[in-house]
Amino acid sequence: MSSHNFTETHLAKFREICGNNNVVTKPELMSAHLTDWRKRYSGNAIAILFPENTSQIVAIIKYCQHQKVAITPQGGNTSTCGAATPLANHTAPQIIINLARMNKVIEVDRVNSSVTIEAGCTLQMVQEIAASHNLYFPLTLASQGTCQIGGNLATNAGGTQVLKYGMMRDLTLGLEVVLPNGNIMQNNHKLRKNNTYLDLKQIFIGSEGTLGIITRATLKLFPLPVNYLTFMLPVEKLVTALTLLEKLKHYYLNNVSAFEIIKDDSQKLYNQQFPDAKLPFTANWLLLAELEINADFNLDNFISLLESIGINPDDVLIASNDKQRRDLWLIREHIPLAEKAYGYAVKHDISLPLGKIEEFLATSMPKLRKIEADGYFSIFGHLGDGNLHYNFGKKGASLTDTEALEEQVSQIVYQDVINFGGSIAAEHGIGIAKKQWFKKYTPVENLELLQTLKKQLDPLNLFNPSKIL
Ligand SMILES: Cc1cc2nc3c(=O)[nH]c(=O)nc-3n(C[C@H](O)[C@H](O)[C@H](O)COP(=O)(O)OP(=O)(O)OC[C@H]3O[C@@H](n4cnc5c(N)ncnc54)[C@H](O)[C@@H]3O)c2cc1C
Repeated sequence: MSSHNFTETHLAKFREICGNNNVVTKPELMSAHLTDWRKRYSGNAIAILFPENTSQIVAIIKYCQHQKVAITPQGGNTSTCGAATPLANHTAPQIIINLARMNKVIEVDRVNSSVTIEAGCTLQMVQEIAASHNLYFPLTLASQGTCQIGGNLATNAGGTQVLKYGMMRDLTLGLEVVLPNGNIMQNNHKLRKNNTYLDLKQIFIGSEGTLGIITRATLKLFPLPVNYLTFMLPVEKLVTALTLLEKLKHYYLNNVSAFEIIKDDSQKLYNQQFPDAKLPFTANWLLLAELEINADFNLDNFISLLESIGINPDDVLIASNDKQRRDLWLIREHIPLAEKAYGYAVKHDISLPLGKIEEFLATSMPKLRKIEADGYFSIFGHLGDGNLHYNFGKKGASLTDTEALEEQVSQIVYQDVINFGGSIAAEHGIGIAKKQWFKKYTPVENLELLQTLKKQLDPLNLFNPSKIL
């Protein structure tokens, strides 16, 4: 049989399992799913499948196993490292399984403070359903209107509220996963304590679609914060910001919920891209921080705390209403968009011990300047978590120019990250973009263990082949 006939046989089977409308083959409808968010990677697939329930996923996977069809699980396709893009030249036929049509809210349990959902719900849907019950789901990403909970789980997403609430791994009580052999791992419980041997769900959180398809999840909910103190201030040196963070944590304990930073070049990109919503300050660094507060909050004490470390309260912009709070957050959320609109840059999503960040920057930035004297540094991110988006670009650079710079730039950045005890992938994962660096910097014994796990679960290497490992 020719490959065309094989494809037609596969498609007929997929239509039988999912229904005609849930198997997309028209190129114009497929194209957005075959290219990543940053438009760096493109692949191909014989179809995009939109199953409506777990049983359909089981049937698709069993068929794919039998026919050796490779699968790329996909959520909102907002991965910044090409994790959800199929390969360009894979030998086996490939399909994408997108969970957009599995977006039911199954239960909000107010007593247990949890929500059980299908994995295709967008993050924003979950935030909204929680709020409608006077509860709170804290994961917050600029991509929240598009990314899906399945994708958030598969990438162990972080975002701006990690300081208080943790990453997706910390926010998850239970999972249902369809494994590469078509079995369902049932772990979708609501328990906060469950020490029945290993916590299997944690293997799949952060697995980037390589070990199965996450179909349902039960997530923790929290009381809605009563109020916020959201403020922005210019700082010259990171040490001032880190001293402030330390003081805030001591004084307000676990109520420091966000602590974000934006470097001067990123501020310039923002002002160019959004001239109607210019920044209130420009400085070496802009700090955006938030406390969760209640009726007992005393502004005078807060001001005294600022003064105690030499910060002039007149330099601090405090949001006085919800609109101002939203506007401050929009600035932070629009930084990656401003950068994307400006052109390509070599991007890194790194983390470091807080006390090493300044030294890391002082070491790596001059080295990068030597490579490209006119280069700009777009550095922003979740300072409170030690997580920087550390991007280096050249004005007007094309993708090809940037790729030419990438190897040399990333080698310097990642080697310095490792030298200072950091991680080359803080919250966005590995995907295609960081595969070579992941292999380079992961101890060989750890790699072997991960490869053993992958081989055991997916011996035919059908799930997101050639990513990560
Ligand atoms: C503007 C912008 C801002 C962002 N900000 C942040 C941020 O602050 N913090 C952060 O952590 N990330 C951030 N991201 C990255 C991205 O949004 C997250 O990684 C998100 O969790 C991906 O979800 P998704 O549904 O889009 O997944 P996709 O991009 O579709 O997929 C990501 C990975 O998950 C796998 N996958 C998807 N669904 C499933 C499933 N159901 N089962 C198994 N595997 C699956 C895919 O195969 C792939 O490996 C940002 C992205 C953008 C575009």
